[in-house]
Amino acid sequence: MQKISLIVPCYNEELTIEIFYNTVEKVFHDNPETFKDIAHEYRFIDDGSTDKTLPELQQLQAKHPETVHYLSFSRNFGKEAGLAAGLQHAEGDYVAVMDVDLQDPPALLPEMLELLQTGNYDCVGTMRANRHGEPAIRSFFSRAFYSVINKISKVQIVPNARDYRLMTRQMVDAILELPEYNRFSKGIFNWVGFKTTYLTFENAPRSAGESHWSFWQLLNYSIEAIVDFSEVPLKIATFIGGMFAFLSIIGMIFIIIRKLFWGNSVGGWASLVSIMLFVSGIQLFCLGIIGNYIGKIYLESKHRPQYIVKEQR
Ligand code: UDP
Ligand code: MG
Repeated sequence: MQKISLIVPCYNEELTIEIFYNTVEKVFHDNPETFKDIAHEYRFIDDGSTDKTLPELQQLQAKHPETVHYLSFSRNFGKEAGLAAGLQHAEGDYVAVMDVDLQDPPALLPEMLELLQTGNYDCVGTMRANRHGEPAIRSFFSRAFYSVINKISKVQIVPNARDYRLMTRQMVDAILELPEYNRFSKGIFNWVGFKTTYLTFENAPRSAGESHWSFWQLLNYSIEAIVDFSEVPLKIATFIGGMFAFLSIIGMIFIIIRKLFWGNSVGGWASLVSIMLFVSGIQLFCLGIIGNYIGKIYLESKHRPQYIVKEQR
């Protein structure tokens, strides 16, 4: 019998886990045709929650020992680590990745599975039809992020696409081949290739609890994503450096000619100082870009595990 695994990262989600479980069970129950010959399992990942998420998961697991499994991290390692752990432990022939707050509607699962079963696709992703209910500034920056990363990196990331997706075992195995420590899942899903189609859905508010992402965390995440999937910022640094070297040669020629024909004149020190400040600013900026990459190399080269499991069932 085939099996579908649901990977569900949870960080301080004591309020949403039970609602999530009941809603998903109802979807399986209401679509007996689609899920006739297919079993399912849950792979919850407790990402070092500080509330009652773990006891909630323990209870749920005790009630449904066959289908519910969980991993509990020793601390908060971030959603990306949770997804990686889930993918490594999932046993299903089909693997879904979804948030526990029901912002990824489980009602799409039957359609996603049917699409995969046609054999035409290896992955069914989802995207939001719009970004209603989100602060305007967040939508603006996220649009800017997608347009930048799609211009400067080789993988194409579909704007508004969620992490929510259903994949075949073959695609999951391909993802597991990527051992990197710094993970940006949306990029990785694209990088491995395979045929993906997208379903669109209306944005839903959180079932309970609060979002864990602040504006700065999202900004940071965007920079990480760009560094992970593009070398263009390094080239920009080289380009800016080259441009300034060129300009300064022209400047020097100009000064020499002026000296030869018109003699020397003191003055212009203010513009000189501002140019110096400007150029050193650019230098620091470029160093910062390079530093970002070196930081990544440093982290990768330490070969630390992506997460540490404290409890597993
Ligand atoms: N999450 C996680 N670790 C974290 C932050 C979030 O596992 O450090 C989980 C969270 O429990 C949820 C999913 O990632 O299932 C998405 O988080 P959230 O709903 O806060 O993000 P948003 O929907 O606002 O982008
Ligand atoms: Mg959410």
